[in-house]
Amino acid sequence: MELLHQRKEEVRRKHIRLHVEGALTARDKVGVQDFVLLDAYTSESAFLDNLRKRFSENLIYTYIGTLLVSVNPYQELGIYTLSQMELYQGVNFFELPPHVYAIADNAYRMMCSELNNHFILISGESGAGKTEASKKILQYFAVTCPMTESLQIARDRLLFSNPVLEAFGNAKTLRNDNSSRFGKYMDIQFDFKGIPVGGHIISYLIEKSRVVYQNQGERNFHIFYQLLEGGEEELLAYLGLERDPQLYKYLSQGRCAKESSVNDKNDWKTVSNAFSVIDFTKDDLENLFGIIASVLHLGNICFEESQQGCASVPDTHEIKWIAKLLGVDPWVLLEALTHRKIEAKTEEVICPLTLELSAYARDAMAKAVYGRTFTWLVNKINSSLVNKDFTGKTVIGLLDIYGFEVFDKNGFEQFCINYCNEKLQQLLIERTLKAEQAEYEMEGIEWEPIQYFNNKIICDLVEERHKGIISILDEECVRPGPATDLSFLERLEEKVGKHAHFETRKLAGPRGRKIGWMEFRLFHYAGEVTYCARGFLEKNNDLLYRHLKEVLCRSKNRILKECFLVAELENRRRAPTVGTQFKNSLSSLLEILISKEPSYIRCIKPNESKEPSKFDDFLIRHQVKYLGLMEHLRVRRAGFAYRRKYEHFLQRYKSLCPDTWPHWHGPPEEGVERLIKYIGYKPEEYKLGRTKIFIRFPRTLFATEDAFELSK
Ligand code: ADP
Ligand code: MG
Repeated sequence: MELLHQRKEEVRRKHIRLHVEGALTARDKVGVQDFVLLDAYTSESAFLDNLRKRFSENLIYTYIGTLLVSVNPYQELGIYTLSQMELYQGVNFFELPPHVYAIADNAYRMMCSELNNHFILISGESGAGKTEASKKILQYFAVTCPMTESLQIARDRLLFSNPVLEAFGNAKTLRNDNSSRFGKYMDIQFDFKGIPVGGHIISYLIEKSRVVYQNQGERNFHIFYQLLEGGEEELLAYLGLERDPQLYKYLSQGRCAKESSVNDKNDWKTVSNAFSVIDFTKDDLENLFGIIASVLHLGNICFEESQQGCASVPDTHEIKWIAKLLGVDPWVLLEALTHRKIEAKTEEVICPLTLELSAYARDAMAKAVYGRTFTWLVNKINSSLVNKDFTGKTVIGLLDIYGFEVFDKNGFEQFCINYCNEKLQQLLIERTLKAEQAEYEMEGIEWEPIQYFNNKIICDLVEERHKGIISILDEECVRPGPATDLSFLERLEEKVGKHAHFETRKLAGPRGRKIGWMEFRLFHYAGEVTYCARGFLEKNNDLLYRHLKEVLCRSKNRILKECFLVAELENRRRAPTVGTQFKNSLSSLLEILISKEPSYIRCIKPNESKEPSKFDDFLIRHQVKYLGLMEHLRVRRAGFAYRRKYEHFLQRYKSLCPDTWPHWHGPPEEGVERLIKYIGYKPEEYKLGRTKIFIRFPRTLFATEDAFELSK
């Protein structure tokens, strides 16, 4: 213990010497560890310079006040060791270099001392390091929190839920070999002693389309390949599967089923082990893999066109396997894949599907089955994470969610994701402003209003009832007659065409940048994004033919039975659309977040090639913009660059004034007043609060810091 304390003291001193609020030489070399200390704080170039300097020294973390900016190093830096964890435990936030552990520790300690709930929001684009950051935080808690023997199992389940969810929810994409294809919010629950006792997970928008289609160089969800590579012989035989992923259409479209950067065989072992830790029974697994295998069989069903233009299935081999694994009647399944039930006034009419529609029905079934099984999986994990014995728990929520996405082509998915970010940004700005205001009030300092852009106007444009884009889309989805993506676009022009943050080709204003005829453009808080309206209707509808739904509702597979309830067939009301469901789940998420104390981590991807030490200016500038970092810095800096408790300020600089050196015995506030008068602070440079000194400009502080360096 003594040794640890000594080491902490040593590192702390070294850190202070090296680059706390910037000694002259260190500042030039490694930049400032907090962007609020940048003199040219509104300049994007200065921001980038600082980030680059630090990155080249392998300093991947930098603060903006209490927000942590993290740049993916794409290499192991040795900064996540046990001794690092110990180092950050119980240390004041600014006393050590910025670190994800500092954020975790700070939230944890505040939770323990104030018995309130917290969340840590991690955002950034794909491959920026969000999921790694959230894993580091979870590990930090698992290692550093107190623990009793009986609660070890709860901790292990929290840790092992991760590999299972990643197997089913992550995939190799061009941007990230282990890309999370769903948003994740995880509550870690602690008892009053600060021991982690349980948890709860909510998932958002799993990318179901990946089940049936992958772009070049991308793969389906990891679990499929893991099963084929690692699954035991008997299991594969039971499921009717071959080892070679190339044999399955749903696995081979991206032409990279065998990926050297992913070890499916090892991962299968990890996942199997995790399954046993989180309490899955043999029966659960049999049912679960029955479904996974059925999806692969589904993908291999080929249709042929009869002379009348109807679809038929020449080889029913796959159908039989699916029927066996899902416990459904093969002939009914076959009929449901090639026919559609249409409800006329008094009777049901069965009409054959074309080749194209049959393929559509098959893919819709695969997506629905996988999507709902994923939800089942999350619920099942949750039931193993609940701990009913503990009441009065406090929680730390971890939100690992896709950041703003701006591609060459942006569709319905990007629209949802960017809407989500718009909402989260609103929360961040409001909370930051509120926190600033609260601190000023508490310190008795006059509040100086901050100019900022309130993006509520864009949120409303998307989500307002009856008037917003989602409502307009929903209306188009139910409108009788031939609604199309184009008619949706026309409806948008009609209803929100005059909105200042909306534009189409027809309505392109003086800004007049190039825009295609099926496109519309939104002016998000972070910048403009052009969306292609193609596919919006279909994706929002997410239709599964009733005929197929009936088959699935009658399935004897225990998991599917829970996923497709017969009640759903009886309920004639339309299920909410994807857009509306997402809107509702976002609004519950915001409710969850709003009652908790926030911390933020913004992750940045340094280059597209996943290489260490490569800092791509253009790419990073883009992210700084879309992560809203400049705006955040502006809000943080609008008042004062720096604030510190009187005691801490005095302790550090007391040697600069004969009145306070070597000891000051009066109240620290008076000491600070004498000190700054002696070194010549001008009245406009600072303010004195109840417990803290507020300094307006970094240069004032740096001058003091440099004087301190010289006086040594
Ligand atoms: P995201 O969740 O933002 O899409 P990930 O967290 O999956 O991104 O990170 C992508 C990859 O980048 C990881 O698989 C890992 O190889 C690397 N990486 C991310 N963060 C770190 C880190 N802090 N240290 C080392 N490598 C990292
Ligand atoms: Mg991720």
